[in-house]
Amino acid sequence: MNLTNDTHCAWINDLYTRSNIKSLLSNEECDWLIIGAGYTGLSAARKLAQINSNLKIILVDAQLAGEGASGRNSGYLVDTTLNDGFTSNKELQNYKKKADIYSLGINVVKKFIKEHQVDCDWNESGKYFASSKIEDKKILENFSNTLSKLGFEHSLLGNKKLFEKLGTSFYNIGLYTKGGILLHPGKLVRAMVDALPSNVFLYENSCLLNWSKNKDFISCNFKNGTIKTKNIIFATNGFLKSLGIKSNYNFPITLTASMTRRLSDEEFKSIGEPKEWGVLPVRPMGATIRITKDRRILIRNTAELRNPFSMDKYKLNQRSKIHLQGIKKRFPNLPDDIIENSWSGIVCRSGNSSQIFEKIDKNIYAAGCYNGSGIGVGTLFGEQIALMASNQHSEEISVIDERKKPNWLPPQPFLNIGIYTRLAYERIKARSET
Ligand SMILES: Cc1cc2nc3c(=O)[nH]c(=O)nc-3n(C[C@H](O)[C@H](O)[C@H](O)COP(=O)(O)OP(=O)(O)OC[C@H]3O[C@@H](n4cnc5c(N)ncnc54)[C@H](O)[C@@H]3O)c2cc1C
Repeated sequence: MNLTNDTHCAWINDLYTRSNIKSLLSNEECDWLIIGAGYTGLSAARKLAQINSNLKIILVDAQLAGEGASGRNSGYLVDTTLNDGFTSNKELQNYKKKADIYSLGINVVKKFIKEHQVDCDWNESGKYFASSKIEDKKILENFSNTLSKLGFEHSLLGNKKLFEKLGTSFYNIGLYTKGGILLHPGKLVRAMVDALPSNVFLYENSCLLNWSKNKDFISCNFKNGTIKTKNIIFATNGFLKSLGIKSNYNFPITLTASMTRRLSDEEFKSIGEPKEWGVLPVRPMGATIRITKDRRILIRNTAELRNPFSMDKYKLNQRSKIHLQGIKKRFPNLPDDIIENSWSGIVCRSGNSSQIFEKIDKNIYAAGCYNGSGIGVGTLFGEQIALMASNQHSEEISVIDERKKPNWLPPQPFLNIGIYTRLAYERIKARSET
């Protein structure tokens, strides 16, 4: 087992190349071991090191720190996610609990960037949920109802207004929510790597192959060494299942995305010189599309069940063609060779869109499964799992504990059959929206 990722992510390519990268080449012992250096693992390591300045903390990642999904996502720090509207107060309360977690997630990222003076292209622009299908109006009206009940500022928009704001006449119905931030995910996660305290030892390109629990310690095997630790936090999100963590409650999904080159002055004028914006789909398998502040277009319109450990160049090129079709649907005047970068990334899903945050055994903790909204929640869960693992309590932990827990998933092959069927159904529903 080895995790090989493509090196084509536009966000990561925007960053300076890091030096001084260490891999695990010998046997080590530590008080705390954290597996996975994305938002979750980096935040857990940062917090643990603050609380326990005299303990030895090791953080490992199978690739370069921050270069998994955390550096490869679409950069929406969300306050709300779309639902179909609710028929009962209980469901509304559950939605509120979710939104409370998102709100804490936004606060914790805000605090981090303030404390560390991080420039991550933070833009409190809000976001749009939009569709070309008039029939989707009902979904957005129901959603609007939910948002009104919970006091979220928002507005419903038709084709003309959407054209003015977005520079495309593709969308016929949309809902704008004022909350929510657009940011550069690579810059944010790189800042978290740079902010690691000195008592955190970081080993990269070091994949955990297997692990076992003994009486007083946990033994973790890597290609070139073993780490014996007293405590462990699993923060591998889309790879939790491959390490046997909460296997019946989560599964990985592979997403792919592309980014165009910067639009020329003429091209930018041709789409109405819009301000930076982000659109999320009304149907789950529709496209997420964004115009960045430096006039690039990002699109993500595939989601599939496959081996999460790698995607070869041929497969990525095939996805890139689907991305181009999505861009051309919305901006037919842009040229065919406009995509500069395409990449894949792994997210973690549960059956009911709920997250994992728990002690799974004595001295063993896990946090993850953010279902596509892990920027804020991952940062929050990382910090809070570190507190929980240090036997501390916080108001945030109480809010997190209130959430609905992930539900049990059937074993293979039934799970994969179920996921394939669901994805195929959603794909048909969103055919016009990719
Ligand atoms: C294309 C795409 C678009 C997305 N868009 C958004 C968005 O707009 N907004 C949003 O909030 N979220 C979005 N997400 C989801 C978000 O990126 C994730 O929820 C978030 O990055 C999870 O952070 P994490 O630290 O838990 O996991 P990751 O960032 O996945 O980090 C886990 C780390 O574990 C490492 N690892 C795995 N297995 C092992 C092993 N065996 N040994 C050692 N290390 C291992 C991996 O290399 C990886 O670096 C998107 C994701 C993708 C892929």
